[in-house]
Amino acid sequence: MASCVTGLTCIHCDSSFPAAALVKAEGVWMTCPKCGPADGILDIHYDLDRVRAAWKSHPLAQRPLNHWRYAELLPLEPSAIRHDWSVGWTPVIDAGRLACELGIRQVLLKDEGRNPTASFKDRASSVGVAHALQVGARTIACASTGNAASSLAGHAALAGLPAYIFVPATAPEPKLAQLLVFGASVFAVQSSYDAAYDLCSQTCQGFGWYNRNCAINPVLVEGKKTAGLEVAEQCASFGGVPDWVAVSVGDGCTIAGIWKGLKQMHELGVIDRLPRLLAAQAKHVQPVAYALEHAELPKDGTGTTIADSIDVQVPRNWRKAVQAIREAEGVVVTASDEAILDAIRLAGKHGVFAEPAAAASLAAVVSAIDSKIIGPNDRVLVMITGSGLKDTKNAIRAGGRPITIEPSVAAVQHVLSDSRKGAKTQS
Ligand SMILES: *Cc1c(COP(=O)(O)O)cnc(C)c1O
Repeated sequence: MASCVTGLTCIHCDSSFPAAALVKAEGVWMTCPKCGPADGILDIHYDLDRVRAAWKSHPLAQRPLNHWRYAELLPLEPSAIRHDWSVGWTPVIDAGRLACELGIRQVLLKDEGRNPTASFKDRASSVGVAHALQVGARTIACASTGNAASSLAGHAALAGLPAYIFVPATAPEPKLAQLLVFGASVFAVQSSYDAAYDLCSQTCQGFGWYNRNCAINPVLVEGKKTAGLEVAEQCASFGGVPDWVAVSVGDGCTIAGIWKGLKQMHELGVIDRLPRLLAAQAKHVQPVAYALEHAELPKDGTGTTIADSIDVQVPRNWRKAVQAIREAEGVVVTASDEAILDAIRLAGKHGVFAEPAAAASLAAVVSAIDSKIIGPNDRVLVMITGSGLKDTKNAIRAGGRPITIEPSVAAVQHVLSDSRKGAKTQS
């Protein structure tokens, strides 16, 4: 299963670079040397005819159920593929009762919380760490709102590489706990995610560390892309391509990656049409919504959200995200913190435990139904990007407290009859 990479191009100036650039530890593959790290983001290209031929002689149906099944569409040498780090092929849940409740034809929940460190970010980290090993990196680093960090720490631990992590000091404790247990060195930066990001980039440049940040490292986006490849393959069991794929947006790499995967599967003939994208942002942190309209980022931005994973005022990949949303005839829908807490409860009632940023995509779907962007005949797939165990404080805010009782059946009876009375007086 050899990689079918043909080369890289700069999304800003369109310059091309050979695939060989990907196997140098230091070099042009990180960002375009002409445009620099702020603008010169690179995109990786593949020979899809070769992919098609490879999938014919070795069909996907016969491959392991993890994201390495798409090896031809990853920028890795065969020896770098690690089936033992099983990532992806997360379940798609057909939430029929939820579709009825919301009054649309179908709601599919793709539960990315089932990945090894409980978020979507494992798709990128696994590919990034495999690539770091391939190029002989000795240290790996990233800045993160939390999930990219815990997932990088987990995969670095699997690989035996030291990891340095820069997080905002406000990151939820369960995420910090995860990465500390995985043995990473953690810098809790006394500022925003945006500041942590800049500090990480400067440190990587200074010390020659492998930078796992998706926004500038094109290899990572290829890992995120596997979710789009999977959606294309899995939706065949649920009546075909959905009308909408809903994704929450922070830096914008996730939605851009998923779109790239969907497009490749369309070109490869695995799906016969493309869904529209529903991009979810927080009500007070919506720079991508602004950029979609104005083709630039807003100058100010001071709001915040409980959805820490998308609490990003300066999205590093906004251009790729905006381009994906445009191509997909997509829309951006924002969700308030209250709507996000409601969506955590809603997903929970249908068996899926979501962290706030993961529920934001469902909250956006609810709002898009209310405003008739999504119609009653539509079928929607919602990416639930991270587990509710990642942020137990907000999970409890959404779920409420238990009923404290004495250890007696009488006490249980008492509570039950009270709640029945309550139900009667309400009706
Ligand atoms: C990182 C993350 C996102 C957003 O991904 P971006 O690439 O930053 O847009 C959404 N949900 C969760 C749970 C995340 O960890």
